[in-house]
Amino acid sequence: MKINRNYQNLEESYLFSTIAGKVAAFQKEHPEADVIRMGIGDVTLPLCEKAADAFARAAKEQGQEKTFHGYGPEQGYEFLREAIREYYAGFGVRVKAGDIFVSDGAKSDLGNILDLFDADNTVLIPDPVYPVYLDTNVMAGRRIWFLDANASNGFLPMPPEGQEADLIYLCSPNNPTGAVYDRAQLKEWVDFANRQGAVILFDAAYESFIDGGAFPRSIYEIEGAETCAIEFCSLSKLASFTGTRCGYTVVPEALCREGMSLRKMWLRRQTTKFNGVSYPVQRAAQAALLPEGMAQCRAHLEVYRESARVITETLSAIGIWHIGGIHSPYVWMQCPHGMTSWDFFADLLEKTGVVGTPGSGFGRNGEGYFRLTAFGRPDATREAMERIRRAYGNAE
Ligand code: PLP
Repeated sequence: MKINRNYQNLEESYLFSTIAGKVAAFQKEHPEADVIRMGIGDVTLPLCEKAADAFARAAKEQGQEKTFHGYGPEQGYEFLREAIREYYAGFGVRVKAGDIFVSDGAKSDLGNILDLFDADNTVLIPDPVYPVYLDTNVMAGRRIWFLDANASNGFLPMPPEGQEADLIYLCSPNNPTGAVYDRAQLKEWVDFANRQGAVILFDAAYESFIDGGAFPRSIYEIEGAETCAIEFCSLSKLASFTGTRCGYTVVPEALCREGMSLRKMWLRRQTTKFNGVSYPVQRAAQAALLPEGMAQCRAHLEVYRESARVITETLSAIGIWHIGGIHSPYVWMQCPHGMTSWDFFADLLEKTGVVGTPGSGFGRNGEGYFRLTAFGRPDATREAMERIRRAYGNAE
């Protein structure tokens, strides 16, 4: 018997457990301290009322013989795929319902999609990065080429001409940096991928934070993307589905490699290894995406946007370099006084009781940076930023 030894090549993921340990130690030492957590990537507002009602109604249906639903359709219920198609149409993007695959969230699909590609491929992964892209490829033993994201490119790496590329991960708006690609930049990536015969795995989990039309919410806003890109999206941040679980992946019919349709391969993969998302969850997702539900979701998003504004305004006022927070719930700040990410973590906790996420936990280029999120309670965010203003007001 041989196990998958690639697992030995995974870096231990200490980031969030180390943070939890350090915060627990701090609280033990300072039981009176009012700790404010600004490191969380989870939402705090609940499902919108429309989604919660539809969820409950559908659960009741499951308890009645006449309305009971067993296994659902392979790619998800028509009612949900139609609602997703309409959602895209709402910002001017045409996707076919037949190219949409409903899933239990973007994370699983981002990992599972790799079943379609040989291990003998070169993968381009930004650094810093959402760790799932890296770890899933390390598990499969693929060659990895890091795309340096740093202050000089606005944390938005561009195609490395001359570099071999088979799979390319792009995440916009980005976790952890909050940086967003504009149309011209994405067009460069699409052209590069089409020239190389590469496939872009486009993570649009935070598209709903994009405010205004200047930045694409979908890779399919870019001409040529349907022959080189798969898009992953999620109701997690859009509609507070982090604990309810629903997402979707778009694999265009026109996307083929070596004479094979990736859409057909993904259908085969999903029907072989996945049995769909529960009926009540799909009803809840549909309700969130329909106009009344969407209006409620938008109200929640506004709360996070306002918190992000408070964060960026405070950092600007005290002269701390940062990006993100405009089309993103994440703000990526430079640590003051040249501190390392972990030194600043400790300093911030000690001086203010505020917890954030050290940028170095997301990759080599994250060293010296720090991630704050706008998902906390607005009053707590205001208080945290007031403390930061007092503690680092003379950051220069
Ligand atoms: N992609 C990015 C960039 C994320 O930050 C997250 C969650 O934090 C996900 C995907 C996962 O989303 P889901 O909850 O749909 O699995």
